[in-house]
Amino acid sequence: MTEILIATHNANKRREIKALLKGFDKVKVLNLDDLESSPPMIVEDGKTFRQNAIKKAVITSKFFKGLVLADDSGLEVTALDGKPGVRSARFARVKATDKENNEKLLKLLEDTPEKKRKARFVCHIVLAERGHLLVSVEGVVRGEVLSAPKGKNGFGYDPLFVPTGGKKTFAEMTATYKNRISHRSLALAKLKKSIGKYLKNS
Ligand code: IMP
Repeated sequence: MTEILIATHNANKRREIKALLKGFDKVKVLNLDDLESSPPMIVEDGKTFRQNAIKKAVITSKFFKGLVLADDSGLEVTALDGKPGVRSARFARVKATDKENNEKLLKLLEDTPEKKRKARFVCHIVLAERGHLLVSVEGVVRGEVLSAPKGKNGFGYDPLFVPTGGKKTFAEMTATYKNRISHRSLALAKLKKSIGKYLKNS
C-alpha cells in the first residue's frame, strides 16, 4: 500500500482530489490533518501555479515518507490580463471569503461586455517524494464569467464560471459532474498515468 499525502489545507480541494483518486486500490490517501506533527506552512509566493505547486509538494515531502501531492489552481480572466491568477484565493484581501473575491471580480468586470468575459480555470498538480519533484501536470478548462452569481454548489469562483459549450455554472452542477470536467480532474487524469509507475516501485 502506498500512502499519498494531499498537501492542502483547503477542505474543498481535498474533497475533490480524494474523490478523483478513488479507484486506486493500492493507494491510501492522507490529509495534512492525519499527520502527528504538521509540516511547515508554505508561503505561496510563486509567480505561476506551477512554481507554487512545486514548492508545496517538494517542501512537504521532506516531512513525509510517502508520495506528496500538491496543487495550485485559480482563475485567469483574459480581460484582466490573467488576474486573479495565483492570487485567486486572496484576490480581495488576505483571507478573503469567496463572496468578497467574487464581488471584487464582478466589480472589475462591470464594464466588460459579455463577449469579452473569457476566462480559464487552471490547475497545476505536482507529485513529490523525499524532497524531489517526480511529476508535474496541468489541467485547463475554458469558459466565461457571468455578471451575477448562479448556483449554490462548489466553492470559490464556481457561481460565476460557465465552461465553454455549457449553460450551467460550476456551482449549478453536481460535484460528480463538475469532477468529470474540471481543471483539477483533467490534471489528475494526466497524473494518474504517471502514478502507476511510482506505485509499482514503492
Ligand atoms: P490555492 O488554494 O492557492 O490553490 O487557491 C485556489 C483558489 O482559486 C481558490 O481559493 C478559489 O478561489 C480558486 N479556485 C481554484 N479552483 C477552483 C474551482 O474549482 N472552483 C472555484 N474556484 C477555484
